[in-house]
Formats: sequence, structure tokens, C-alpha cells
Amino acid sequence: MITIQGLRKTYGPVVALDSIDLDIKTGEVIALLGPSGCGKSTTLQLVAGFIAPTAGEIRVGERLLSSSHSVVPPERRGMSLIFQSYAIWPHKTVAENVAFGLQVRGVPKAQIVTRVKQHLSTVRLDHLAERYPSELSGGQQQRIALARALVVDPEILLLDEPLSNLDANLREEMRFEIRRLHETTGITMIYVTHDQTEAMVCADRIAVMNKGRIEQIGSAFEIYEQPRTQFVASFIGRANTFSGELVEQGLVQTGGSRLQAIDESGARAGIAVTVCVRPHRVALGSAPSGGPANKLHGRIERAAYLGESSDYLVELTDGTRIRALVPPETRYQVGQQIDVYLPVRDCRVVAQ
Ligand code: ADP
Repeated sequence: MITIQGLRKTYGPVVALDSIDLDIKTGEVIALLGPSGCGKSTTLQLVAGFIAPTAGEIRVGERLLSSSHSVVPPERRGMSLIFQSYAIWPHKTVAENVAFGLQVRGVPKAQIVTRVKQHLSTVRLDHLAERYPSELSGGQQQRIALARALVVDPEILLLDEPLSNLDANLREEMRFEIRRLHETTGITMIYVTHDQTEAMVCADRIAVMNKGRIEQIGSAFEIYEQPRTQFVASFIGRANTFSGELVEQGLVQTGGSRLQAIDESGARAGIAVTVCVRPHRVALGSAPSGGPANKLHGRIERAAYLGESSDYLVELTDGTRIRALVPPETRYQVGQQIDVYLPVRDCRVVAQ
């Protein structure tokens, strides 16, 4: 439905967006996820039509919306945008806030009443229609913003860090609320966030961005379990990383050892690569069952009991450090020598 091709935006010498390609299907929720400054908001503003691309195109279906020559204005793109500061009018009731967009479009009054009612019900605010925003919680206020964005029947909903002003508990609740809203409405969404859990809960696919580019795009499962680059592996969850050189497919020479790993990198022998392994996949003391493992040796440098697991930092013989999250029953002392096992199926070769 949305086709983004070779999209680029520069401000003088600053490259805000290097070059991205992205296809979004009708009814899909895509999250743009990445650290501050990676180009997420620039992408969203380009899609919304607030700014013009330096190069590249944005199409919705067959319709060309943006190119370096022409930009269809925001109000003619069939999109609604929600920001983190959700700018609702304090002197209007909940229902009046939601009705406003329809009034300015000259929609007949009876129709406004029906549509406002329907959308307040979608976001579960129907019982609070006559209240003023100051009488509502932050999460309820954000739901007004959602209802207001949806009531004008956009084809596409754009969300820019919509939950970042809410406290942690509310944020968690609202993630599921947004997911539910999508299941009810089926609307296509582009969702900008720097919060990986938010992206994992809300989106069908996640585009992980870094330095103005998309490093990887896939489901939450794919980007967590099958990262393709060191950046993706480290940004999504925690990862131990060992840089080295590919000896042959699936075998990497690192500083102190040769590691066997799952290798879908397509890299050739001699190329500098990284091996990643998640801390909760590392085993200490004895070999894990269920397949071969790389065996290393080290010394416990730091230990913490976390209730659901124990968290160890181990200094390996070659001086590198590795984090292991193991079952809480295992109790090792700082200074103790220990065997460290990295199951081959949990080690992955990724590009540096
Ligand atoms: P994100 O939303 O991922 O935090 P942005 O898209 O806002 O990142 O910004 C990407 C990069 O482009 C940043 O380095 C930012 O400083 C730069 N940038 C964004 N807008 C402008 C602008 N109007 N003028 C100059 N540089 C900009």
C-alpha cells in the first residue's frame, strides 16, 4: 500500500535520512525503531508531507505523494498524525474534542454525533464523553487523541512516540490498547518509537533504524532471534558480542578462541564479523544438554542474585567479558574459576 523508494533527506551537510526503501501492506502496523537521531521522525514527517524529500519517492497505491519535485499537502494525504504531546483542548469536553475535526470539515451534525459516539466507544471512553480533559488520566487523554485521529477516517495513522509522556504502568497498558485498537479498526499504522518493547507489542513488523538507514526489517521474533547486524543484536535486548574473522562458514576466529555459530550472514572467509549470544543462553559450570556448545573458561568477576535469575559477569582467559543470566539456584562466588558454554545454535554470525 505504502511504497517508499530511495527516500533521502539532508539539511545542508547533515544527512537526516540516508536512503530508505520500505513497503507497507494495507492494514499493517510498522514500527520505526532506533536510537535518538537515527531518522525516525524525519521519515514520519516525510510520509506525513510536512517536509519534502531531497531524493526518492513515497507512494500510496498508485498515487505519488512525495518526490523531490512535488509534495501533496498533509491535509490531502488521507493520514492522521498523533504526537507525544497530544494537544487536546482543555476547555472542550471529550466529545467536543473528538467532534472538532469533523466540524471543520463541515460534516452534518447528526453524522458527527454518531461518529463521535462510535469512536469514543472504540477507545472505551463513551462513559466519559461529557467530562473535561483535566478530569481524566494521562492514558485516557491519550485515548482522546486516538479517537480524534481516527474519527476523520484516515487511511493511514501515523504515531510519533505517542506514549513517551506516560508513566511506565500506563505505557504498558496503552501498548496493548493500541494493539487492540488496531485489531478493531484494521487501519494501517506507522509507529515511531525508541522503546523496543513498545515496538514488539504494537507492530507486525519492525524496521530497526541506525544512522539514517534501515538495518533490518522483520517481526519481533526475527529481529530478536535472527539479527543480521551487531547493531540490531545489541539494540534489541542484550547481547554478548565477540568480534573476529570468519574462517569458514559458521566458524569464527576471535581473540582467544574459535567459535562455532549459526551463520546466515553470507559473509566470505577472511571478512571481519561478530558472533552474538544472548546472556540467558550462556551456561556456566557444566555443558548444557540439547546440542554442541563452544567451551570457554573464565573467572567470575561480578555476581548478582535477581530472584528470577542470577546475573554473572565472567572474565574469559583472553580478557574479554561475558554476561550470563542463569537459573537462580546456581550460586558461584566472585573469583571462582568456571567453564563457560555457548550453545552453537544460540551463537550467530552477524555483520559488524
Ligand atoms: P529521531 O526521530 O530518530 O530521533 P530525527 O529524524 O529527528 O531522528 O533526526 C535525524 C537527524 O537529522 C538528527 O541528526 C537530527 O539532528 C537531524 N535533523 C532533523 N531535523 C533537522 C533539521 N530541521 N535541521 C537540521 N538537522 C535536522
